[in-house]
Amino acid sequence: MTVPRQHALSVDVEDWNEAFGRQGLPARLQGTESRIEQASDLLLELLERHRAKATCFVLGTVASRTPAVVRRIAAAGHRVGSHGWEHRCLDDSNPALLARHLTESRKLLQDLSGQPVLGFRAPWFSLRSRTAWAQAVIQEAGFTYDSSLFPVWNPFYGVSGAPLEVHRLPGGLHEVPPSAVELGPLRLPIAGGIYWRLLPFSWLNWGIDRLASLGRPAVLYLHPWELDTGQPRVWMGPMSTAIHYLNLSRTARVLESILGRWSFAPIEEVFPQVNSAA
Ligand SMILES: [Zn+2]
Repeated sequence: MTVPRQHALSVDVEDWNEAFGRQGLPARLQGTESRIEQASDLLLELLERHRAKATCFVLGTVASRTPAVVRRIAAAGHRVGSHGWEHRCLDDSNPALLARHLTESRKLLQDLSGQPVLGFRAPWFSLRSRTAWAQAVIQEAGFTYDSSLFPVWNPFYGVSGAPLEVHRLPGGLHEVPPSAVELGPLRLPIAGGIYWRLLPFSWLNWGIDRLASLGRPAVLYLHPWELDTGQPRVWMGPMSTAIHYLNLSRTARVLESILGRWSFAPIEEVFPQVNSAA
């Protein structure tokens, strides 16, 4: 078994207000300020400083409103993927709507980045058994891999028994799950987001080392708005508000620490098998 030289870093590129959405931008946040340019610049600077590369799953609305964000990501040597057209869960979509959103976002992202766009990540990791219909739609739209199946259950998303490793679905689409570590019968999610803001540094470090010792590169994720501590504070109900804002100032420190310890590359480089479908 080979200890991986690099781990995979991914970024879901959405504006701070879009992150609350399950059916696009929530109506009560229409008209609030966009901060995606400054937030993504913060992230790009940090990645540049550590010579880390990532796969950035960009929302179609972001690419359409602020194409400079996609151009800067591509010019900095990162890979571009799709986070869908608007921040809409698969549960609140249907095959025809998803097909249109995927095709339109992929075309726009390819035009702006000059790259083939191979990967998709659904908002709120909303791929699970009741939305499994989406896998065929994702493949039909030209994607070779998906990274939407979160292998640990939480109140918002996740499938507790889903495979932990990168695998291929019967139709040929590759599935790249965000990382979790087995602890006896339990699974500890170490992949990013709220888990980075809640878990002790020592647990995250142990988790990544544990995966490396098993020959598995980690698949981590974050959002540009998690670095933007100056974003507006809005109340969106107890759970959503807590998940969005809790320990927000911790993300930059966790990311700096992780980038200082390990080397990171885009999903397409760490798992070269995802570059072609069956
Ligand atoms: Zn998202």
